[in-house]
Amino acid sequence: MARHRNVRGLKYDEDFEDDDVYGQSVEDDYCISPATAAQFIYKRDDYNRRAFAEEPLEEGDEYAEDKVEEPSHNNQPILSGVDQARLHCCLDEIREVLGDSVSEQVLVDAVLNSQYDAHKALDLVLSEDSQQTSKIKTQSTAPAQKSTIGKAREQSARVDADIVPKVAKMTVSGKQITGFNIPSANVDENGHLRKGTVTEETSPSPLPEVSSKSNSTAHVASLTEEAAVVQTLSKGSTKTRQQIDVKAELEKRQGGKQLLNLVVIGHVDAGKSTLMGHLLYLLGKVNKRIMHKYEQESKKAGKASFAFAWVLDETGEERERGVTMDVGMTTFETKTKVITLMDAPGHKDFIPNMITGAAQADVAILVVDASRGEFEAGFEAGGQTREHALLVRSLGVTQLAVAVNKMDQVNWQPERFKEISNKLGHFLKQAGFKDSDVAYIPTTGLNGENLITRSQVPELKVWYNGPCLLEQIDFFKSPQRPVEKPFRLCVADVFKDQGSGFSVTGKIEAGYVQTGDRVLVMPPNETCIVKGIALHDEPLDWAAAGDHVTLTVTGVDIIKINVGCIFCDPKAPIKTCTRFRARVLIFSIDIPITQGLPVLLHYQTLSEPCTIRRLVSVLHKSTGEVLKKKPKCLTKGQNALIELQAQRPVSLELYKDFKELGRFMLRYSGSSIAAGVVTEIKE
Ligand code: GDP
Repeated sequence: MARHRNVRGLKYDEDFEDDDVYGQSVEDDYCISPATAAQFIYKRDDYNRRAFAEEPLEEGDEYAEDKVEEPSHNNQPILSGVDQARLHCCLDEIREVLGDSVSEQVLVDAVLNSQYDAHKALDLVLSEDSQQTSKIKTQSTAPAQKSTIGKAREQSARVDADIVPKVAKMTVSGKQITGFNIPSANVDENGHLRKGTVTEETSPSPLPEVSSKSNSTAHVASLTEEAAVVQTLSKGSTKTRQQIDVKAELEKRQGGKQLLNLVVIGHVDAGKSTLMGHLLYLLGKVNKRIMHKYEQESKKAGKASFAFAWVLDETGEERERGVTMDVGMTTFETKTKVITLMDAPGHKDFIPNMITGAAQADVAILVVDASRGEFEAGFEAGGQTREHALLVRSLGVTQLAVAVNKMDQVNWQPERFKEISNKLGHFLKQAGFKDSDVAYIPTTGLNGENLITRSQVPELKVWYNGPCLLEQIDFFKSPQRPVEKPFRLCVADVFKDQGSGFSVTGKIEAGYVQTGDRVLVMPPNETCIVKGIALHDEPLDWAAAGDHVTLTVTGVDIIKINVGCIFCDPKAPIKTCTRFRARVLIFSIDIPITQGLPVLLHYQTLSEPCTIRRLVSVLHKSTGEVLKKKPKCLTKGQNALIELQAQRPVSLELYKDFKELGRFMLRYSGSSIAAGVVTEIKE
């Protein structure tokens, strides 16, 4: 289960106090990133450098013996110990600036060509493209020096060969690719890493990282294959993306099961968390011991009836207040589907969080409280039943299961069930849901009736023979995954984890991504490298539209990445603007909308202040024909074309190009006032 974390509130300095522990973790089962390993390894280099700087190299020096004085196979002159130390110094200095983005070979060449001047070497690397760099290699290197470089390469390769077993000590996931280049020659037939000469071609280069703590031998066994991928990905900056048949692979990966992102919505206290907590318990997703613990703890806290809700309400405050505040996330399976479940907060104070959850959903369960007066409270103005339903519909959800919950409170009366279904049905139709896409299921989350099996309660059996909740979830149609479109991921969370770089979570809305890919982040218009991909905590080489993933990225400052940023394909970037036009549907509002109104734009996971810059026209609801130009105001239920001005650049797609990414919501003073689709990008 994952929660959105407060990244900005984190004190990274404190986090990094454990750095030395990271070093030790090379021996652990824990995941370790190349940067972490690099820190560890760097220390050794540092040690050598210091040793070289402070003391003259003696003949008996172990390092000199092992690494320097060893005769060259091709009789090439070798770097002296001091020169090697100077080389390492320079490399360290350059890496401080460039990180791992340039291959070791290029750096070594640049350092040697600039006579060990790190600044000059850095300039060389930065100012010259790969062609120029190779020109330097061939033009300015005298034959003797050339062989020096060859030796230096060989030596640096050897140093890296020494590194490999250290990295190999941790459990290397077959799914992820290591940050150190593991040439296939270094992997024996059993998939084990072996020490060996690293050829020039396979010398270290920026690569995706290891981050898994998987202990599967199968993972290790697939290392040879992974190493091949490493090589494919590692060939310079113009790396060739390994071609994969994403659709076929997706089928294989899920064992034939389709993916479905499900959000649970409804008025506060309707019983959402209890319902889903109990469902997860019945599915065996919560072990008995933990459930017993929740029961004891909730009893102690005087909230015994919330025990199942605690499965999803994880934080202390949520439990104390008895309300869901953030979006709880977990997975379970039905007969034909793998479900990512998002439990959205019902309280109106947390609607922005609910929007974040709903923006990533394909389908929804709307939970209503069947108790007398309670359904009405949630359904009337001010209740969240209507607002949530409208929000999810506006965010693109078309299929809905209504759990008419707490049926035990009304003795499973069919009349009450019908009354609620009728009232809701009428409203949902107006909100844009087709009758055939809405199903009503009588449930009781507290007693677990009609959740994963059809209820045998006699009072229900006499009048209901429809599906239970789990069956209904299984009946949902999985949406098409636009895997052939350019890559898009909306950031729902940003956090710093162990190791290099940082991580973002979000749903891939379109296309697919592979480890090693360079992706563009909009805004701030920066590129970064995807070092690792995880789906439901499982490391993967690639992920595609519909997947709710965690990406570990490097090459961009975490400060620049916010919730709401879009990761996209640099070759087909998302459009960014501060002014755009949209067709909107005005919700039930008391005060008409006028020009200049400050609103909050909710787009995917982004919420950004905007103003309504212009009321362009009022449109006919179904034909779209212009009924009135330049209206003075817009009132409830109207369809209109408006122009919005954002304070800062926002990345959007036109609805006609990208249905999934062309929708948004407008809120004003804590209420949703309109839903819209982007029709034109102005600036
Ligand atoms: P949420 O705010 O919608 O997530 O609601 P919770 O799951 O936190 O439940 C609110 C209260 O309703 C808790 O006291 C639950 O025990 C109670 N509740 C939930 N489902 C049922 C039910 O089916 N029957 C009864 N009688 N109470 C329920």
